[in-house]
Amino acid sequence: MNSHLTNNILNSLPAQLHAFRAKLTAVPLPVGMSIYEPHEIPKFAHFLTSGIASVVTTMKDGGSAETGMWAKEGVAECMHLGGSDRVPSRCFMQIAGTAMRMLFADLERDFESLQPLREAIQHSIQSQALILSQLVACNRLHEVEERLARWFLMLGDRVQDDQFHITQEFLAEMLGSRRTTVTMAAGALQRIGLIEYQRGHVHILDRERLEGAACECYPVIRRLTNGVAA
Ligand SMILES: [Zn+2]
Repeated sequence: MNSHLTNNILNSLPAQLHAFRAKLTAVPLPVGMSIYEPHEIPKFAHFLTSGIASVVTTMKDGGSAETGMWAKEGVAECMHLGGSDRVPSRCFMQIAGTAMRMLFADLERDFESLQPLREAIQHSIQSQALILSQLVACNRLHEVEERLARWFLMLGDRVQDDQFHITQEFLAEMLGSRRTTVTMAAGALQRIGLIEYQRGHVHILDRERLEGAACECYPVIRRLTNGVAA
């Protein structure tokens, strides 16, 4: 496997889990592809090896906001494991990538029977829950410009690149703010030379100063994301 294409959970498992690994297939994940739909038991489980999947919660009036993000640190369907509750959010690819995929039913069985797998996934569920707690407070208390800086840094970390593409509609949706507000915030970050932002193409020009412009949540989230054995 290309060393760039790795998943932290799969990396952390003992080499002898041959039967488990034999169930995994490498698949491409184009932008916009559905990973799972609300209230449905997923058919597949995806250990992302590149790209970013966003978890989105939609309200009755159609308004939606990002309520989670998965990249190579976890398995996107982990919230479906270990209990019978249905997951009300949907998850889809925000930045195209790749995954090692297996049948969700197989993962459910192996989650019960393979202790190292269960421990690695439980650790990533804990990290995700703690990240979500931080984001709830962030979205309530921090200004859009510092949240946007934080989000650009989170995306850059996950794609391991200073350049990536996101749609403008999506940008506003992800921050739970109006599109004009987010465009103005992106413009402000651009004017002081931290990023270049044009038609959804983001280029982080000065990471150090962008970290300075981001709210205190960024280092907290980075630490939690990297907490899973790499
Ligand atoms: Zn914050």
